[in-house]
Amino acid sequence: MNQPLDPIAVVAEFVERVAPYDPEPGAVPAALLGVRVAGGEAVFPLSDHVIRAMCRALEAYRDPSDRGTCAECGGRRLDDNLRCNDCGRLHGILGEVIAQHARRVAEESAHGSPA
Ligand SMILES: [Zn+2]
Repeated sequence: MNQPLDPIAVVAEFVERVAPYDPEPGAVPAALLGVRVAGGEAVFPLSDHVIRAMCRALEAYRDPSDRGTCAECGGRRLDDNLRCNDCGRLHGILGEVIAQHARRVAEESAHGSPA
């Protein structure tokens, strides 16, 4: 269950947290950020320092469901067990052991078993 978020308050709090460290506090805003949600809207004039900090924060964000990319199909939907929802390939140590075993079995059957 997601906790309720107030995006306007979150942006305001971010600006308050970062703005005191702006090396040019009186400079003209470099960007205007508008946030409109069901509960209201706000426009934030952001200094170069703050917008750069916000961009770095956004770049650093990783979705909690991001468990990497499937080595088999390139899919991005790996479940909690690192199993690809798109092709079924298992990842992680267990997945690698199973994949190696499957390759060995495939090679053995391709070469034919000695009679
Ligand atoms: Zn896959």
